[in-house]
Amino acid sequence: MDGENPASARFSFEVRGRDAATGARLGVLRTAHGEIPTPVFMPVGTAGTVKALPHEWLEALDARVILANTYHLYLRPGPERISRIGGLHRLISWPRAILTDSGGYQIFSHRELRRIEEEGVRFQSHLDGSSHFLTPESVMDIQRVLGSDIAMVLDDCTPYPCGHPDAEISMELSTRWARRCAVHWSRDCHEARALFGIVQGSTFADLRTRSAEALLDLGFEGFAVGGLSVGEPKSAMFEVLEHTLPLLPDTRPRYLMGVGTPRDIVRAVALGVDMFDCVLPTRNARNGCLFTSEGRLLIKNAAFADDERPPDPDCTCLTCRRYSRAYLRHLYVSGEYLSATLNTMHNVTFYLDMMGKIREAIASKSFGKWLERMEKWPE
Ligand SMILES: [Zn+2]
Repeated sequence: MDGENPASARFSFEVRGRDAATGARLGVLRTAHGEIPTPVFMPVGTAGTVKALPHEWLEALDARVILANTYHLYLRPGPERISRIGGLHRLISWPRAILTDSGGYQIFSHRELRRIEEEGVRFQSHLDGSSHFLTPESVMDIQRVLGSDIAMVLDDCTPYPCGHPDAEISMELSTRWARRCAVHWSRDCHEARALFGIVQGSTFADLRTRSAEALLDLGFEGFAVGGLSVGEPKSAMFEVLEHTLPLLPDTRPRYLMGVGTPRDIVRAVALGVDMFDCVLPTRNARNGCLFTSEGRLLIKNAAFADDERPPDPDCTCLTCRRYSRAYLRHLYVSGEYLSATLNTMHNVTFYLDMMGKIREAIASKSFGKWLERMEKWPE
């Protein structure tokens, strides 16, 4: 039922090609739930659903991996129930790979509801106010129960702006937690599953260096760059990436968490990032914002009321093949459920198609041209 294939049940990553002029690389992640060509975009399915999209549609789009969130699934339906049903893949009927975020970011974004201690984080549920205490070890246990193909360490997500002393304290706590996660994970290590470390350190190069160096010793299967896209200027985000990515081992996958716009993604691929997730395509879809080859399209605009063209003439998704801007606008302004579904279908297709084109461009040695074109994409 959950589609796990024991014959290939060993997590691995292989770099298969490189762009000559940039840091962009082609690769493949192998998991017990299928191969994932990289660079890859992982649609966000926080609570075990990529909001508004049935899983057969995601499969039809050839989404190979989705992201789910440990914090949300821990609160509801809860690890005990998920365990009884046989894991998250089985509960949600998703046979392909799942990466679970540790929940650090979600816990820390509810600032008034949580207290950080050395041992872990104490917080109140945003659902019912109940009290909880999560430790690096318990977050590993929960992700093991979920059956994540890729699990993430619990980290302290530094807010922006943040002074150097506070960023240092936060990064050091994240490092100690990462060590505890690695030790606990290795006690019952399932070789089909991978644990990724998360580099923190806000916008300070020296802290990013120390964070990365400390994580390198802990034997993670991959590395994420965390704490970005939290309000800092774009220039600061790319400075951190340019500084941090070369510190990470070339043989391991690199994951930029929570980024970003199409242009951000293409630029980050050029610096050597392999994996992305972001709520933009799905959240914007529900807010009536469509990503198209000509830029963003705000479907509620009156200009589309009589427009019989598809949202994006260059797109072949189910939405664009059949429905007009006029209809999508009508659905949106009427508050119809189908609006979210059709818009999400299109935006997720746009992101996944873009990643496919990036991979083709790297393979055919034309990534530079692609980069140039995306620089002109009207963001
Ligand atoms: Zn479309």
